[in-house]
Amino acid sequence: MSDQNAPLAVICAMAEEKSALKEHMSFMETHDLLGRTVTIGRLDGHDVVVAESGVGKVASAVTAALLAREFGCRGLVVSGVAGGLDPNLHIGDTIIAHSLVQHDYGHLHDTALTPFRPGIPPLGEHRRDYSFDLPPDLAGRLTRVAEEIALPDLPRDLLSPDAPTAHRRPDGLARRVLMGRILSGDQFINSETVRRRLHRDFAAQAVEMEGAAVAQVGALLGLPVVVVRCLSDLAGSESHLDFQRFVAAVAPGAAIVLRRIIREL
Ligand code: SAH
Repeated sequence: MSDQNAPLAVICAMAEEKSALKEHMSFMETHDLLGRTVTIGRLDGHDVVVAESGVGKVASAVTAALLAREFGCRGLVVSGVAGGLDPNLHIGDTIIAHSLVQHDYGHLHDTALTPFRPGIPPLGEHRRDYSFDLPPDLAGRLTRVAEEIALPDLPRDLLSPDAPTAHRRPDGLARRVLMGRILSGDQFINSETVRRRLHRDFAAQAVEMEGAAVAQVGALLGLPVVVVRCLSDLAGSESHLDFQRFVAAVAPGAAIVLRRIIREL
């Protein structure tokens, strides 16, 4: 990332996600940005400005653009929770995005959506290049770091066999940290049919509501964008229950991974 003295912008959609980071920050002061409280300080020796954007693509894109301009940020990071799409993943696993896609942007036909690159007028072949990808050198460095991160087990009471979740972690299985494709759209995914379709059509690991919108802002401003998401649910028919049950327990997982990768940014 460019000027190493400039701060990194960190965008969290929700309070739980921001407080998981704030507890590790020092030298904090706050700043109001169009009603958003921005916390300015240091995270493990790195200058950061952290904002709670609110949920969704517009809220996060506006926040990213404001932070980038107001603080001259050298990069944009999104940290928080997501729904898992890949059936091999479990609640508590964490994805670092090497590729980001707005899954609800494109031409809607009777049966399917043809995705396009957001923001490009609908002409020319480049519109089919719909994902925002990390530069290969950064992706390579993050892959190596991801392989070395170990996350603490989730609290046992959340994982008990009578827990109202269809997607229990097998006992003793270590939490995974891996690179993957993350989808963003203005919908909370609460359907097994949609989960399967998104996984199949986009070969993606997780779905959330902000990351690829911030990636579009980063592409416009020439800033790198890194998204880290810990799975709060598996986007299926019980995802609304799982989300409520796990959001506070898994949000720190994204913060742990972000703190490990920040020195690579
Ligand atoms: N607290 C809200 C829900 C927030 S929406 C409520 O009132 O119900 C879910 C948030 O977590 C979004 O910021 C999104 O990025 C992420 N997320 C987690 N699971 C998701 C899923 N299954 N589908 C889409 N986004 C999800």
